[in-house]
Amino acid sequence: MRLVFLGPPGAGKGTQARDLAREWNIPQVATGDMLRAAMASASPLGREAKQYYDRGELVPDDVILRMIKARLSESDAGRGFIMDGFPRNLAQAEALGRLVKDLGHTLDAVVYFDVSEPELLRRLTGRRVCRQCGATYHLVFAPPTRPGVCDRCGGELYQRDDDREETVKHRLDVYARQTAPLLDHYRGQGLLVTVKGEGAIDTIREAIRSVVEARRR
Ligand code: ADP
Ligand code: AMP
Repeated sequence: MRLVFLGPPGAGKGTQARDLAREWNIPQVATGDMLRAAMASASPLGREAKQYYDRGELVPDDVILRMIKARLSESDAGRGFIMDGFPRNLAQAEALGRLVKDLGHTLDAVVYFDVSEPELLRRLTGRRVCRQCGATYHLVFAPPTRPGVCDRCGGELYQRDDDREETVKHRLDVYARQTAPLLDHYRGQGLLVTVKGEGAIDTIREAIRSVVEARRR
């Protein structure tokens, strides 16, 4: 199963990709998570990405594509993947198309998460992430049992620097200009399926399962 989860920041891609990837036994390939890990370890790639990341800009394509190529060459990616947060512009989408083709495969579907802007703002400003395992919570919509502590691993929850209100608005703008054109791109390839990204997390997960399974039949 080779899927792309597409949608604005805060649409719920990571929340759904994490659970469905586990269920389907394929890796979740989240470029944002990979960049945060690279920045936390202060690797050369992390240092290169940080200036863009902190401003809510897209990190240059060559950095992202290096990361994706390395990830897709790992053995678990042979079973398939859920791309979460990649591709984010046309050049990245074209590069992904070539990579998948060179490996002798095709994409099965691109799942677009449709969520209104006021809801995205509420979600992003209340998001909290586990420093240790990357699990995602929301202060109101998906709170942890104990405030500030991850239910899954006991790690500390923090607010991402780029989830502050000023940066969030800019990221939504970057999405509209650079990433939203991918909707037409994938619609043209007959790959786009849309799910309503608002409502209970379980209901949305079920909707994704059913659109993806319908496409594979
Ligand atoms: P993305 O990966 O698309 O940026 P996330 O999965 O991190 O988005 O979700 C953004 C925020 O919204 C998180 O705080 C998450 O807990 C919360 N969230 C995810 N899905 C829902 C939902 N269906 N209803 C309300 N809040 C949600
Ligand atoms: P995310 O965790 O997906 O919200 O991504 C957080 C930030 O990481 C973005 O605002 C970008 O700065 C950077 N980023 C993540 N994925 C990509 C990508 N595919 N292309 C460029 N920048 C990315």
